[in-house]
Amino acid sequence: MLNVSNLTRSYGSFVAVDDVSFTIKKGEIIGLLGHNGAGKTTIMKMISGYLEANAGEVSLNGISLKSQTKLLQQQLGYLPENLPVYPEMTVAEYLDYAADLKGMKANVKIAEIKRAIQATDLSAKLLAPIETLSRGYKQRVGVAQAILGRPKLLILDEPTNGLDPEQTQHMRALIKEIAKDATVILSTHIMQEVNALCDRVLILKSGRLVLNEKLAALQHSLHITVKTDYKN
Ligand code: ATP
Repeated sequence: MLNVSNLTRSYGSFVAVDDVSFTIKKGEIIGLLGHNGAGKTTIMKMISGYLEANAGEVSLNGISLKSQTKLLQQQLGYLPENLPVYPEMTVAEYLDYAADLKGMKANVKIAEIKRAIQATDLSAKLLAPIETLSRGYKQRVGVAQAILGRPKLLILDEPTNGLDPEQTQHMRALIKEIAKDATVILSTHIMQEVNALCDRVLILKSGRLVLNEKLAALQHSLHITVKTDYKN
């Protein structure tokens, strides 16, 4: 479904993402892992069309996404690390604005906003200015705007970052629900999150992809390592 080939991005002489290639099948939940500064956000921004790559290509179902603004709007949802919003906007105003940014036609807009509100359980907060919401609710607003229009690919940058345990559980359940209809790439620092959600793990180190493995295979090899250590 998604094909990332030889993606590279530098800032001056510093190479933030270095020749990264991977493919993702329809319906997979992919965990993108790595230390702070490993290049996760940079890759997600390039896939989402928010940042231009210096080299390489991203294609969705065989179509290159370069300069495909409309295709990106229709097929891809993105939860950035920080929501680029006007904090005084209410939740309802923001979702309306986000739907307009996606070029949604008036006849589908209302239904789509309602669906996103229901999925993220935001109906009690519609008239609340975003700046008054807790971090957990802000993340829900971010997810709500990302799923407007039922994108086939969802990119979630640290979706549980800063959430308390209850909010984290809610967000993970929400991601699982969303993933029934969409392919998901999420970045995280938390192994528990990977265990709870992901089918496949990509690990980045200093901008390079150092591991691309199914979670089951990874768990299997880690288990063997633990057993060996125990015997010794
Ligand atoms: P985190 O987990 O902290 O969000 P990350 O893995 O998402 O980290 P990126 O945000 O992709 O990492 O950053 C990768 C590297 O590129 C870092 O060293 C960062 O300082 C650098 N970088 C990112 N954006 C810029 C920029 N606009 N100008 C210069 N360097 C940048």
